[in-house]
Amino acid sequence: MTGKRIAILGSTGSIGTQTLDVVRQHPDRFSVFMISANSSAALLVQQALSFHVPHVVICNPAKYDEVRGALPPSVEVHLGIEAACSLVQAPEVDVVVAAMVGFSGLRPTLAAIHAGKAIALANKETLVAAGEVVMADARRYGAPIYPVDSEHSAIFQCLAAAGDNPVHLIHLTASGGPFRTWPREEIAKAGREQALKHPNWDMGAKITIDSATMMNKGFEVIEAKWLFHVPARQIHVVVHPESVIHSMVEFEDGAVIAQLGCPDMRLPIALAMAYPERLPLDGKRLSFSDLKGLTFFEPDLEKFPCLQLAFDAIEKGGNIPCAMNAANEVAVAAFLAGKIGFYDIPRCIAHAMERISFIGNPSLDDIFSTHSEATALSQSFLGV
Ligand code: MG
Repeated sequence: MTGKRIAILGSTGSIGTQTLDVVRQHPDRFSVFMISANSSAALLVQQALSFHVPHVVICNPAKYDEVRGALPPSVEVHLGIEAACSLVQAPEVDVVVAAMVGFSGLRPTLAAIHAGKAIALANKETLVAAGEVVMADARRYGAPIYPVDSEHSAIFQCLAAAGDNPVHLIHLTASGGPFRTWPREEIAKAGREQALKHPNWDMGAKITIDSATMMNKGFEVIEAKWLFHVPARQIHVVVHPESVIHSMVEFEDGAVIAQLGCPDMRLPIALAMAYPERLPLDGKRLSFSDLKGLTFFEPDLEKFPCLQLAFDAIEKGGNIPCAMNAANEVAVAAFLAGKIGFYDIPRCIAHAMERISFIGNPSLDDIFSTHSEATALSQSFLGV
């Protein structure tokens, strides 16, 4: 194996496949030690063969035989999330790309942190649900966390200009999603097809719905607070429909440093994997003469109540962001299944945040029980 050795949690999703694109462009820099998927067996097999991956994890037991049967005996095929948790700790792993969707990414990400691995973090729900525990463990075990989320990668890059100076404000940009210009009455009637049409970014279904509700931006405020130790009142969400500026940092003298680029997740992925190096990447480059103009708006919290709920969750703290995340996972799945309307998503989240038993300083066990409790509350609220 050559270069940095990578383990990818969630290799068949949008971030996972783009991570492998980066590896394909730089075979001398990276090799892949482990890939894991929930149930996309055919793609997992294809990836294992193309990238000569020695360890493959499939989480869905119903798919194990298909994966095992399609791969030569030299490839070790493992079943279940426990196997992923132990493989990310192997001495052969340098960087763990945490690209699973949702709360399910928390345990394997923590396992990697406990082994002191460098984490390329795409799984923002990990920090939303358990930011305090995750960041404390990352410090304790000396595991660096490099953000893959485009906004947080941008902030991380801008902060290189900070030196020892304090941050005055983080300007977290948001595209506004597909419903930015729609009236509320129309948004209320929108179904999955409309919500899945993101104007700028091609992403997985869960995060695309989170972008349509702007819950994603709320999650990103929480993610930024933990990653950069900046209180939420110093994080300003600004809608920027062109998605050219990926976020900005403002210092006390008024200077604002921004990171710009075409919307392409391979840049933050490659930077997180190769840090501190920047690798050459193919793909579109910004053409300033073709830019028609950059526009900025304040977010509309009436139309996008999920963003307000996220600010409320930060204010309350403790296990409330974890409950918010669990309720959102249930509601987004129900919305994608066509079982509920668009504004049932914030209604379900608000209900869970009100009804959950509050824990001010949750332990990891408290986080898991809050997730289960809020999931059950939300399922019964929505009747799913
Ligand atoms: Mg983002």
